Parts: sequence; C-alpha cells; structure tokens
Amino acid sequence: MDIRFYNTLTNEVEQFEPLEPGRVKMYSCGPTVYDFAHVGNFRSFLFADLLRRFLEASGLEVSHVMNITDVGHMTDDVAADGRGEDKMQVAARRLKEDKKSGKVEDGAVANPDDPYEVAEYFMQAFLDDGRDLGLKVVSEYPERVPKATHFISEMQQMISKLIERGHAYVGSDGVVYYSVDSFPKYGQLSGNTLDGLQVGAGGRIDISNQSVKRHPADFMLWKPDQKHIMKWDSPWGAGYPGWHIECSTMSMQVLDTDVLDIHTGGEDLIFPHHECEIAQSCGATGNELFSRFWMHARFLLVEGEKMSKRKGNFFTVRDVLSGKATGTPVHPAVLRLELIKSHYRAHSNFTTKGLTESANTVRRLTELGERLRDACGDVPKEIDHTDHPVVKKFLHALANDLNVSEAISVVHAWISSPGKDAAEAYGVLLALDQVLAVWELTARDSMTDDPESEIAIKLCALIDEARRTRDFSTADTLRQELIDLGYEVRSSADGTLAKKTLARPPKAIP
Ligand code: AMP
Ligand code: ZN
Repeated sequence: MDIRFYNTLTNEVEQFEPLEPGRVKMYSCGPTVYDFAHVGNFRSFLFADLLRRFLEASGLEVSHVMNITDVGHMTDDVAADGRGEDKMQVAARRLKEDKKSGKVEDGAVANPDDPYEVAEYFMQAFLDDGRDLGLKVVSEYPERVPKATHFISEMQQMISKLIERGHAYVGSDGVVYYSVDSFPKYGQLSGNTLDGLQVGAGGRIDISNQSVKRHPADFMLWKPDQKHIMKWDSPWGAGYPGWHIECSTMSMQVLDTDVLDIHTGGEDLIFPHHECEIAQSCGATGNELFSRFWMHARFLLVEGEKMSKRKGNFFTVRDVLSGKATGTPVHPAVLRLELIKSHYRAHSNFTTKGLTESANTVRRLTELGERLRDACGDVPKEIDHTDHPVVKKFLHALANDLNVSEAISVVHAWISSPGKDAAEAYGVLLALDQVLAVWELTARDSMTDDPESEIAIKLCALIDEARRTRDFSTADTLRQELIDLGYEVRSSADGTLAKKTLARPPKAIP
C-alpha cells in the first residue's frame, strides 16, 4: 500500500517506507510527569497511537517508544538554557499543598519532598490513563516507556561525544552548552535561521546568560547545580541534564538505531525541543538525518484557545472520565474516539457536541459488535486486510496522511450496510478496531472481568436485596448512584445488571 504522510522536516506530503523493510522505528515525546495528563496531552499521545496502530494494521512491525520526562524539563522551556524551575520541583510543592487540602489522598505520596516518589506517582497515573484510553505503548512499560532518570550515564556519554566533536563547550558559568554555530542546519525543522535567532527574537531566545554563550540560541546540555532537586555526578560537576538531550539519547538507545523512521510530538515541540534533538543527534553521530519523518499533532483547543496547564483551561483525563469535568461520566472509548477523530494537522475543539457525536458512534459500533459476536459464537472469520473491500478502503483513507474522518465515514457506511454475514462482519469489525480500539475498550466492560466494576457488582447486589424486601426507595437511590457513576442499570426477574454507559451526553463543558 502506498502510505503518504506530511513531514514537518520538508513541509511536504511524502511517501513513507521504513528504512528497514517491514519494520518501523518510531519515537514519541511522552509526558512530563509533574501533574495528571490533560486531554490535550492525550490528543498528542493518541495521535501517535493511531499512527502506530494504522502501520501495524497495514502489516508493518512497529517498535514504538514513548519516554517519561522525570527530570530537566524546566518551567521556562522555551529559553532552552535551564532558566526557570524544574517541573518536578513545582510538582513536589503542589503535591504538598494538595495533600493539605485533601485533593491528593493521604498516603498516595508518602514523601512529596522526594522527587522520585512524585515522579512515580504521576507516572503511574499516566500509565493508568493510557490503559483506560487504549494507548498501546503503555502495555509495553517499562521496556518501551523509558524514564529519563534511568539514562543519565548514556546522556553524559553523548554530551562528551558532542564536546569531542566540537559541537559543545563548557561556558564560563560551568554549564555545558550546545554550539548552534557548529551545526549549520540548526533551524531546518522549524524554519528558523541562526541570524534570526538573536537575543530576544520574538521572545523565543532567553536574554539572560548571553555573555557566556557563543550564540544566543546555544542551549544547555548539562547544568552543574548542587542545589537542584535531582542531581548526578558528572565530569562537569554534580548537576542535571537538559531536557532535549534525554530524547536524543533514549530514542537511539531504546530503538537501537542512529536513524529513526518517525518522530512525533505536539506542535509546540517543533521548536526548540525537536530542533535541538536533531542538532544533538546528528552532531553526535555525524549523520545527515536523525529522524526521516517528523510528525506533529496540532493542539486541542477549548473555546478557541490552546488547552494548557499554564492557562488553567484544562481537563484531566480522569476528571473527564469520572464526570467531574463535564457533569456526566464519559466512557473511555468515547473520549478516545473524540481525541482521534479529527485530522491531526487541524486544531480540534473539545466540545459537548463532539463528545455526544463520539458517544453515538461508539454506541453504534458496540451494539453491532455485541450482535455479531453473539451471532457467530465469538468465532470471527479471518480477514485479509489487503483484500477485504471495507478494511482496504478504511486503511487507504488512513494511508492518505491519516485521513481519519474519511476512515470513520467508511465505518459508518459499513455499519449501515444490510445483509452482513456475522462471522465475516465480526472479523471486519475486529480488523477496523485494531486501529480504532473502540470495541477493545467497550468489550472489556463486562461485569465479570472489569475490576473497576467491583463497586457496580456490590451496588447491584444491594439493589437486588432492597427489591427482595420491597424497599423500592432504597433500590431507586442505589440505582441513581450507579447511574451517577456512569452505568446503565437493567433489573429483571434474574436480578440487576449494570454496564458502563456509552451514549449519555455530557451536560456541559464548563
Ligand atoms: P508535557 O507533558 O507538557 O511535556 O506535554 C506532553 C505532550 O502534550 C507534548 O507532546 C505536547 O506537545 C502535547 N500537548 C500539550 N498541550 C497540548 C494540547 N492542548 N493539545 C495537543 N497536544 C498538547
Ligand atoms: Zn522529547
């Protein structure tokens, strides 16, 4: 199949083929684990997931790595020279406040002064959110989800190599800087030029530290700092690494290659983060290319503005799923579909209307899945992805720079089409769902194997108990409790059953 993707590096839609036939090596910038991820962050992560699942459904083997940033990401990251405060420090301070105010349950983080504990807490939260939303890479933790703090010596080796090769120097302030003048292609990804990146340029270049840097855009690789919340010994003094060096190091180490096939991230990472990654990686290897394709997801917006922690206009994944954000619990499959259903290179708005539409699609697909599964006795026909007209059409849409809305309209047309053979259609649904992962998330809601439904099982038993004693008002109260938790409740002579609801629209996005 002819696969074509837009490459930020060339500003063109290009044909994609992995360097090693049949095997794709792909790296995605993951979360900074200083807070719960918001749904905007997950738009970026799920875009990478959609891409990965599409490549796999097209018959390619994909090694996908997504890192965990647990050190070195400063609040002032645009300055790229260590100004600001480490986000882990901010997290520790906020956790302490949240513990005091009861926002974080007692005992969740025994010692918020320990940055490793703080990072672990938010990393586990990210892994949980990822599992909820079908982010496949989290099932490959820890091998494919490396932590920056586990790669400090590899980062130091890379920094030494950059110094040896004349790409880095120790400034009079003791900080190791990358010398952008040593890498004439600096700016190729973002469209910047070295001349344009002078002091203060559009607020993107820090105006402090200029006397020690050779070029205003030189960025930090290692900062000696005895007082830093996390520090390691190094040839340049005890301190911590810059944010960019971790991704250069971990991508090449974990994927075991000098040249990646695809590198992804949100649009805000193009400059300086990815620009600096290219300079570091090519500087250390001497290669012309670091990643052959660079793919970036545009932002998720709320009322036309970027959803961000800084602006405070964000909803965490857990608040959306639990209903705290919108007034009604949202099924994980609905949130997943909502975050992947619009083209990754267009901004997408997080709205009640969008969630409602996604809920309807999820319901249609799930009801069909249940019918087909029961009709064929859970024995799907095996489908040849390259041959079956529906699956082929679906994958062809995605092969065109991930045209997901066209792919979803193929799904809708197929759902509406009459006269399906159950075993074949169930096979088709599973093939489509390898990419969509909607059925994957709804089918796991059965009462027996969903551990989250323990509370639902308990409430159902209490309802049955109340019904037996004809205490219908208690039964009604318990029923409402289940509904508020996001369940649909059905009582019959055989007893009460609850199932996570799919289609109830959220009340409002505040
Ligand atoms: P962070 O945890 O801040 O390092 O960000 C993790 C990822 O989320 C990065 O790839 C960002 O580009 C991405 N991101 C942050 N805000 C948004 C947003 N509103 N929409 C889409 N992606 C975002
Ligand atoms: Zn990164």
